[in-house]
Parts: sequence; C-alpha cells; structure tokens
Amino acid sequence: MISFELSKEQKRLQDKFHKIAEFEIRPLAIDMDKKLPGPIDPSFLRILANNNLNALIIPREYGGKAVDSVTLALIEEELAWGSVDFISIINATFHALMTILIGGSKEQKSKFLPMMLSPAGAVASFCSTEEKSGSDSSSYSTLARFKNDRYILDGQKNPIVNAGDSLFNIVWANLENQKDRSGINAFIVPATTKGISIGPFHDKSGFRGMPAAMVSFSGASIPKNNLIGVPGSGYLLLMQVVDWGRAIAGATSVGLARAAVEEALGYAKTRLIKKRPIISNQGVSFILSELTTQLAAARLLVWKACRLIDLGLDYTAAASMAKLFASELAVRAATEGMLILGHKSYFRPSLMEKLLRDSQLSRIIEGTSQIQKIIIANQL
Ligand SMILES: Cc1cc2nc3c(=O)[nH]c(=O)nc-3n(C[C@H](O)[C@H](O)[C@H](O)COP(=O)(O)OP(=O)(O)OC[C@H]3O[C@@H](n4cnc5c(N)ncnc54)[C@H](O)[C@@H]3O)c2cc1C
Repeated sequence: MISFELSKEQKRLQDKFHKIAEFEIRPLAIDMDKKLPGPIDPSFLRILANNNLNALIIPREYGGKAVDSVTLALIEEELAWGSVDFISIINATFHALMTILIGGSKEQKSKFLPMMLSPAGAVASFCSTEEKSGSDSSSYSTLARFKNDRYILDGQKNPIVNAGDSLFNIVWANLENQKDRSGINAFIVPATTKGISIGPFHDKSGFRGMPAAMVSFSGASIPKNNLIGVPGSGYLLLMQVVDWGRAIAGATSVGLARAAVEEALGYAKTRLIKKRPIISNQGVSFILSELTTQLAAARLLVWKACRLIDLGLDYTAAASMAKLFASELAVRAATEGMLILGHKSYFRPSLMEKLLRDSQLSRIIEGTSQIQKIIIANQL
C-alpha cells in the first residue's frame, strides 16, 4: 500500500518551516549572496539556533528531536526554498552528525551530539574531499599515524563547508600503512585540536552565504577513542553517509527548483503584454507545465529514497536517482526561469539569477551527475 498523504504532524512541520523560510531566511538570501568570502553570518547561526535545527537528526536520548527521513526531506525542501546557502550549512553539519550516528560508539554519541544543541548555534564539518580525492574517495592522502595511544593527522581537505566555525571536524583519512580503501577511517577532530589551520575562504559563484575553505592538519593529535568504528572499517561507513546525504541533497534541489518555478509562474501570471498575461502563450505555459510535472516527479523520487531509509531497506540507487533528477531539474528550472523573466532576471539583485548560479553546485556537490549515473548503472 502506497500513501502520498502526509500526516498532521508532517503538515504542521511543513507549514512551520515554510514560515521560517519565507519570513526569516528568504529576506536574507539576497544580502548573503553579496557576501565576501568569510565565516558564517551571525544571522544564519541565530536562525539555526532559535529553531534548534540540529535537533532534527539527533535522537531524543541525546537531547534532540529526531524526525524520520521523509519528514526531514519535507523540512529540507521548505528551508532550501528559502535559501540553499542556509540549508547547506546545516547539511554539512548533518553529514558530520550522521557519521557519528551510523558508526559512532555510545561514548562518542554522548560526547559529541549534545554539544550541537548549544543555544548559541553550532556547526560541524565533513572533511572528505582533497586534491586527489573528489569523485573518487577510495583512498586519501591525509594520513593518520598511531603513536602513544593517539592518532596524529596530516593532510589538507578542500573545499570544506563551515570551515572555521565548526565545533569539530569529521576527517576521512587513511591509516599510515594502509593506503587503499581498507585503510580508510573517520576521525573526530575537535576544533580546539592544535595543528589545524583554516583558509583561504573561497570566492564562489553561488552559495555565497555558505562558507567553504581549505582545512589543513599538521601533526593534529587526537585521542585514539576519536576513531569511529574499528580501524579499517571506514569505507563502508563513508558510503552509507554519502548515500544518505544524496537523498537529502535531492530534497534541497527540489526546494531550489520549486523556488525558481514559483518565481517564474508568479511573473508569467502578472506580466502583461498587449493586455494579456504572458502565461496565456503556450510557449510560456508549456515550459511551466513541464517544470511543474518534473518537480512533482523529483519530489516523489526523494520521498521514495527517504522512505526506503526509514524502512531500513537498500536505498543506494534510489538516493542517486533522487539526487540526479532533482539537481538537474534545479539547473533546468532556473535556466527556463531566466528566459520567462526576460531582462528583469538578468540585473542584480535578482532571485532567479542567484538560483541559476546556485543550481550549478547542486549537480557537483555530494557527487556529480556522472557519478550518480555510475552508481545507478552499477545497480542495473
Ligand atoms: C562549494 C563547495 C563546497 C564543498 N564542500 C565540501 C565539504 O564540505 N566536504 C567535502 O568533503 N567536499 C566538499 N566539496 C567537494 C565536492 O563534494 C566535490 O567537488 C565533488 O564530490 C566532485 O569532486 P571534484 O570536484 O574533485 O571533481 P573530480 O572528481 O575532479 O571530477 C571532475 C569531473 O570528472 C568527472 N568524473 C570523475 N570521475 C569520473 C568517472 N569515473 N566517470 C565519469 N566522469 C567522471 C566528474 O563527474 C566531474 O565532472 C565541496 C565542493 C564545493 C564546490
């Protein structure tokens, strides 16, 4: 039996987070887009803290109010509609937390999850990408050396969201003498660890309110208990976390695409040419019909992937399909939106022009569209 009916609680949360997106986040989006490279803007941190957003994936036993994945996708869509810059700051934190939730010990969960519920707002970083390991994360140049019951980390991760603001980093590294995937592990590296340096911050085309910078580790020494899982078990954990992240990235792309479609639709209904709204031309209305149909399809793919996660079933291909379809749609919706708005979308500040730049990252981050196709093909 398949039900598309949302529960009362899901509708309540959808409505609550839409209001936050509409009245708190969207009004900041254009200002954030003008930001120079640097740390997270305090207004974003305040919204994160006031709404206790990290609690959404932290289980109640650690002080949070975790929701199921379908509900999380609904919330992500609403917040992404407000600003993908904002939601992506949260998603980077969620990746770090999810690594601990899936692979961490009870002790690690008790130590690192509650601190993320700080009333001041807290973020964490997920440090996988490095110069030679982007799409291919089967080994890392960042190495962890075991010495005197501690791990010493050396290497550079780049680009890393929330760099400089994070309370801790989840760092993916190879054990010193095992340079293939059987030597990969995740390490929890608190921001206070000596030997971490941040920067420079990247000047980005889109997502300008979401900071990203290089994070370097030079002799960064952490207790052996900060290794997640058992030595050599990290590759499977990495795959589990990024699969989960792809379903959630699909939800944020749906939010971005919806923002573009709604903006274009609103304009098409009110822009009069020869006293007729431009939507009365099939050349315009058909574009919007197609985009609206594809938006509904993208949302269903996301819900399916998230439902599989909640049921504990295999969701690898479903998550990649959701991510692939929704992120490609985000680019298409913003591109067609620019056409429908005509010259008005081309002059800054313009929401549609921002969405067009933002949409490009949606098909790169969390694994590019080609990588999603490889994952799907491997499951055929
Ligand atoms: C603003 C921003 C923030 C980011 N934040 C983070 C973060 O917080 N943490 C983190 O770990 N990473 C982060 N990333 C990195 C992101 O996840 C990677 O950019 C992404 O995984 C792609 O890797 P790459 O850029 O190194 O591309 P590459 O791996 O160099 O790929 C280049 C091109 O080759 C293609 N390609 C590669 N292999 C194949 C293949 N086998 N078949 C076909 N095509 C292939 C790719 O699809 C792509 O088109 C961020 C990136 C950006 C831009």
